[in-house]
Amino acid sequence: MKNNIKSLKNLPDESGYYGKFGGSFIPPQLVEPLKEIEREYIKAKNDPDFQKEYRDLLTNYVGRPSPLYFAKNLSTKLGGAKIYLKREDLNHTGAHKINHCLGEVLLAKRMGKNKVLAETGAGQHGVALATAAALLGLECEIHMGSIDIEKEHPNVIRMKLLGAKVVEVTSGGKCLKDAVDSAFATFINEYKTTFFAIGSVVGPHPYPMIVRDFQSIVGKEAKEQILKQEDRLPDYVIGCVGGGSNAIGLFHEFLDDEVKLVGVEPAGIGSGVGEHAATITYGTEGVIHGMKTIVLQDKNGEPNSVHSIASGLDYPGVGPIHAYLKDIGRVEYTRASDDETIKAFLELSKVEGIIPALESAHAIAYVMNLAPTLSKDKIIIVNLSGRGDKDIDYVAKLLKI
Ligand SMILES: *Cc1c(COP(=O)(O)O)cnc(C)c1O
Repeated sequence: MKNNIKSLKNLPDESGYYGKFGGSFIPPQLVEPLKEIEREYIKAKNDPDFQKEYRDLLTNYVGRPSPLYFAKNLSTKLGGAKIYLKREDLNHTGAHKINHCLGEVLLAKRMGKNKVLAETGAGQHGVALATAAALLGLECEIHMGSIDIEKEHPNVIRMKLLGAKVVEVTSGGKCLKDAVDSAFATFINEYKTTFFAIGSVVGPHPYPMIVRDFQSIVGKEAKEQILKQEDRLPDYVIGCVGGGSNAIGLFHEFLDDEVKLVGVEPAGIGSGVGEHAATITYGTEGVIHGMKTIVLQDKNGEPNSVHSIASGLDYPGVGPIHAYLKDIGRVEYTRASDDETIKAFLELSKVEGIIPALESAHAIAYVMNLAPTLSKDKIIIVNLSGRGDKDIDYVAKLLKI
């Protein structure tokens, strides 16, 4: 089959590049193992039996398709532009991450590995991976920063109940970035028997491509659903961006359409080093975790410490596809602060009866600024990437509820 080279959906190129971003910057001993993952993944992608098993789990285990819900109350309150929520929060395990975790564990199993290994930030990827591993009968080891372990304690318990081993990471900032470093170091010693199941569209090729493909179901469904409900494409498609998997999952199907795509980064509490995690906004080109991308880094290329009220967005890098889409101007990247995010978290809870994840509340916060500037005939789709149950204790403490 001949590729339509003009389509942004056909990225990356054969070396794993999205424009000048992406690639594979890894120790020599991992070159062959990652090539093998790529080869096996391409085979699986073209294997109807693999796809059938994956689709079947999405339907009967995850509960897909997730609804595309017209948030009438919020829309009315914000002036009338129609706001639709893609309800990834209703997936089994409560977020979009189960979509790629099931795919990755199926792939690990197909490759004959007996263990999956990963990092986690908010614990959502860890829980989703532990879930998929329990279901499909593989061992699971999750590395997590000690700050996140404390902040997201219920997810730690979930992972343990699901049979996973949780490794506490006490180095560096004790957050997501350090957990990635720690998990990666383990993988270098265990790649023969272990599959590294990365948690976003980040890392060396072929991971950003694999995770993007498994997440693209979100946008495929959303497109079908909006055409059915509104008989036209939306004007805006919006998602929060940490590594960027939920955002690209929703964007992918719309990349070649005349639809405005917006990624919302965490602006935290300010623009200084360590006060935010808005990588695309404030970062510079560099290499982190095996990929060339935009990085929040110091003069020596060391990643900066980062902050976000949402643990899942707390990352000094970003998926190379987002760096590229920013570069060519296809996606607009903007920001929401911690304060705006909390406001959005409370608003969606009260007005729609939906408690969003703090990550997703960043995208809602942007919509709360955008919608009042639009006419009533405009249509917005925003990715509600996860539910907020995991965040309620943190928010209660913050607001002294
Ligand atoms: C992990 C997570 C995110 C951030 O990850 P992306 O790869 O940027 O999508 C966003 N929302 C929720 C609910 C998450 O769990």
